[in-house]
Amino acid sequence: MTVIQSLIDLQEVDGRIRELELELKDLPRRKALETARLSGVSADLQAAKAGQEYADQRVKGFEADAQALKDKIRQLKTAQAGLKSNKEYQQYSIQIDLVSHDLETTENNQLAAMDELPSVQARIAAAQAKFDAEKGGVDAFCAEIDERIASVKAELDEAQKDRAEKAKLVPDPKFLLYYERLRTKRWPVVVPLTHDGVCDGCHLVQPPSVSQMVDANAKNGEEGKMQNIVACTMCGRILYR
Ligand SMILES: [Zn+2]
Repeated sequence: MTVIQSLIDLQEVDGRIRELELELKDLPRRKALETARLSGVSADLQAAKAGQEYADQRVKGFEADAQALKDKIRQLKTAQAGLKSNKEYQQYSIQIDLVSHDLETTENNQLAAMDELPSVQARIAAAQAKFDAEKGGVDAFCAEIDERIASVKAELDEAQKDRAEKAKLVPDPKFLLYYERLRTKRWPVVVPLTHDGVCDGCHLVQPPSVSQMVDANAKNGEEGKMQNIVACTMCGRILYR
């Protein structure tokens, strides 16, 4: 195996590692998005519940007000029964009429507030149904993501072992060092020189001397002779044919 071929083999493993690492970064993000969406649905449900609490409190408030007005009317009537003069009696009648009018208004308000309860309850039921449905889906999705994370980690471990083996097979440490330094900046590192003499990494046309060196390298490889690093004059990628 030529040194170039050993680098291409290493690069193939590194390509897999890069993809797995990207996926490993992306998976928790996807999970977080789904969870955030669910908490939006949960917020709707909480708002619906708070709406019901408010509506219940309104009904109870009117109920208490009505009870207080009824008590007041009873007190007025009791007091009125003990009165001696006609004038005072009439004054009490006027007061009782006024409070009765207030009571009527309050009872009407109470009925109106009670009329709102079914729609408030329907809103809760709808929000709860949506939450339950979404939660089932999100839980299943998150479980799948967790499984995938575990399997990507396992694949990554395997690929790292494979990489260590492939790196050992590169016969020339000079090539390996060059490759390792460049791979964090340029990807892929080892690229073909096209028939028109263009670097397949950055697409710059190479001078004829580079094409000649690449061809000589290929020939050396075929004959089992030593190969040299021939790099793109623009991006520094290792060129081969
Ligand atoms: Zn290039």
